[in-house]
Amino acid sequence: MTRPARARINLTALQHNFNRIRETAPASQVMAIIKANAYGHGLITIARGLTQANAFGVASLDEAITLREAGYDRRIVLLEGPFAATELHLVSGYCLDVVIHCSEQVRMLEESHLRRPLNVWLKVDTGMHRLGFEGAEIAGMVQRLDASGCLGELRFMSHLACADDTADDYTRQQLEVFDDSLQVLTGERSLANSAAVLAWPDTHYDWVRPGIMLYGSSPLLGSTAADLDLQPVMTLESALISVRSYPQGARVGYGSDWVCPESMPVGIAAIGYGDGYPRHAPSGMPVLVNGRRAQIIGRVSMDMICIDLRGHPQTAVGDTVTLWGEGLPVEEVAEKAGTIAYELLCRVNHRVQFMSTG
Ligand SMILES: *Cc1c(COP(=O)(O)O)cnc(C)c1O
Repeated sequence: MTRPARARINLTALQHNFNRIRETAPASQVMAIIKANAYGHGLITIARGLTQANAFGVASLDEAITLREAGYDRRIVLLEGPFAATELHLVSGYCLDVVIHCSEQVRMLEESHLRRPLNVWLKVDTGMHRLGFEGAEIAGMVQRLDASGCLGELRFMSHLACADDTADDYTRQQLEVFDDSLQVLTGERSLANSAAVLAWPDTHYDWVRPGIMLYGSSPLLGSTAADLDLQPVMTLESALISVRSYPQGARVGYGSDWVCPESMPVGIAAIGYGDGYPRHAPSGMPVLVNGRRAQIIGRVSMDMICIDLRGHPQTAVGDTVTLWGEGLPVEEVAEKAGTIAYELLCRVNHRVQFMSTG
């Protein structure tokens, strides 16, 4: 028998979430963000499910080349642009678009002598203060890119820091800075991440760039995926590999963190931090056993977790344990583990068997 830890990837849910983006931002093209192995879901599986995306956004040349070699001829955007001048010939050869966010990258282009013009998304810093040019620098950068002789199409983008909080006025300020910085410049514009797709229609412009909502997790504080009509794409599961009863006072797991308060059944599921499940998940963390809620007890091990099976009298070895996904939102698990859904999803690793449906 193979180890039962598996991630079911539901492509029907992916299509549903994509349709939600289309409905919500009907006038915009969609750059589906599939960086970090499609937020841990599998780059190629997710690309295959996104037949209607107008472009793919990735973080590295590797990911872009993987997509090209798999036969995708769609627009692909390197969201952090080139990391070194030596990448530019591959970028050009594979017909990739690049974000350009700093003057060093402009220099790489100026010195590249590319034969084919490169499509550029110039990144404006509208207040996130991570990457991008300030408003006053933009005209000069556009001039340099023009003069380099290797500029193809030019677009403008920026990123929002607080769009997940619908009560935070900072998004409106960033929007104003974006418009002020670009005023007379022509070229398509892009600002919205998932949260902005859903909560800030004024940010939609020509291209929206949803990531997390594609995967069916809520990008908005205080709203669940169900509230927003999003469906989970990944369901992370394993199975019980042991069910035993222990007497009152028995200690369970590393560090003896859990002490049985009474005689009780304990199940062991084959999944742990070596698979990407968060090690700091505390006792009380919800899981589903055969679709019904139960709780983790004791410490998460590399390959296993322990589950309190009081109230689950019918369980047996081989029964399904769900860590998140259908029936148990990843956002809820993330919050209880002190992190965000993004991190949990992209940490699921190759030890887990991936299977796609729909
Ligand atoms: C990751 C990323 C996104 C997607 O953000 P979500 O919150 O997952 O929708 C959009 N734009 C850029 C530049 C990104 O790096």
